Amino acid sequence: MTAHNTPELRQALQQELMALEQQLRIELAQDHHFQGLLQRLELTPLSDWPELLSHWQTPHIEQRTQRLEAIQAALSQMDLGMYGLCCDCEQRIRKEDLIKDPARQRCHRCLPSMPVKTSTF
Ligand SMILES: [Zn+2]
Repeated sequence: MTAHNTPELRQALQQELMALEQQLRIELAQDHHFQGLLQRLELTPLSDWPELLSHWQTPHIEQRTQRLEAIQAALSQMDLGMYGLCCDCEQRIRKEDLIKDPARQRCHRCLPSMPVKTSTF
């Protein structure tokens, strides 16, 4: 199998996950409102972060949280041998799409990778 068990993609996901975790720590540390949250995150396994973060509904945190969830979902799908299947139609996601975004959950038919740019002309 090609895209289903690709060490490079797993590595890319794990690297992004670590980077995201670090980024979140840095961002939260900059705002004293998040001190309590940060302390709780320190005591929480990364896999439970999305649940904890979901209580802080700033658009920025929400965006990061969604990405965190997508990466974790992709990694656990790899563990289950379910990686690379579209969560809507269950068709295989094209490898070129997975290389662009290893955390991708939908195939190119269900979710076009590039939004079509509308010209104002
Ligand atoms: Zn699909």
